[in-house]
Amino acid sequence: MLFRTPFFLPWLYPSLIWRVNTAERKIFLTFDDGPVPGPTEFVLETLKKYNAKATFFCIGDNVRKHPMVFKKVVADGHAIGNHTFHHMPGWENSTSDYLNDTQKCEAQLEESGYKSGLAGKPYFRPPYGKITRAQIRALSNYNIVMWDVLTQDYDKSLLPETCLNKSIKATRAGSIVVFHDSVKAMPTLEYVLPRYLEYFKHQGYLFESLQ
Ligand SMILES: [Zn+2]
Repeated sequence: MLFRTPFFLPWLYPSLIWRVNTAERKIFLTFDDGPVPGPTEFVLETLKKYNAKATFFCIGDNVRKHPMVFKKVVADGHAIGNHTFHHMPGWENSTSDYLNDTQKCEAQLEESGYKSGLAGKPYFRPPYGKITRAQIRALSNYNIVMWDVLTQDYDKSLLPETCLNKSIKATRAGSIVVFHDSVKAMPTLEYVLPRYLEYFKHQGYLFESLQ
């Protein structure tokens, strides 16, 4: 698995968002698969220490189960994105099922206090990055966000030191970076996230949410 997205994917799928077009020292951190008590709160506390804003791609069912954790993410001023209700892999599901699951997640975000789409199209990230061209067309009322850097924090066979070093090397101005606020990623995240933020803070980078 590559840490940096190969150049031809954005070229093949130009309607998806892979990176923010800026020469400024800005990084766009994203956290997938929450909200989960423990990991999500760890991420929020760590981001606060670095005055960092991020975008959280939430699983609808986790928002339903953990509404108070979700409210903390919103209250801290981070951006929220849709990650389907059941973490659905697009390649293995029909476009209508995929669309329904995405809309169910959007309804859950609203029910739990997040007014999505106020500033334009709501954000959506396909679970596993698996989405068909038909599904992309069906979700044209969303900003579909992929990534420039995949930290692979969920990979337990990867040493945290390797995850940190390769993620740092792959990051550049405007990078959209994927982390996970999940139980599975937590042991790696606890090591990597503070050190990653510290490194780029010293390089003069700012951490912003998508907007
Ligand atoms: Zn996911």
